[in-house]
Amino acid sequence: MTAYRCVPLSTADAMRYRQMSADDFGYPIQRLRSDETYPCRHCLQEASGKRGMLLLSHQLYEPPSVYGHPTAIFLCAEDCPRFDVADVVPPIVAHRHVSFRAFDSRGMMLYAANELAESGGHDTALRRIFGNPEVAFINAHTAKAGCMLCHIERG
Ligand SMILES: [Zn+2]
Repeated sequence: MTAYRCVPLSTADAMRYRQMSADDFGYPIQRLRSDETYPCRHCLQEASGKRGMLLLSHQLYEPPSVYGHPTAIFLCAEDCPRFDVADVVPPIVAHRHVSFRAFDSRGMMLYAANELAESGGHDTALRRIFGNPEVAFINAHTAKAGCMLCHIERG
């Protein structure tokens, strides 16, 4: 049985952003090209900047509550395969110190269920958080910068 599924940006949103010059908040979309790698929110891989990378502001659809807010995200400038593997922590989460933010079905934050994870502790933390039946979903953010990495659903 699947325990959890890390859900990336939709392909529709990725394709939409790749065509736009300004994001949904009116900020110019930054177009980067470099030898660095960047955490793409669609393939959820450490993607090479050699093929071009976008930096823009995006707001997750969940939570649909006072806790919803836009964050900066990187996105491959060219088509990339959408991450779609159950029970696997994608590289952009696994490689980082992250804040797992837990929400109930109304999109309200369950403060006591939130966890920080790093260095291989991500899978265990996700399973522990979903062990709380009140938790409907989790959002993964970078611990220091607070940028959203991906949304996480129960399996
Ligand atoms: Zn990508």
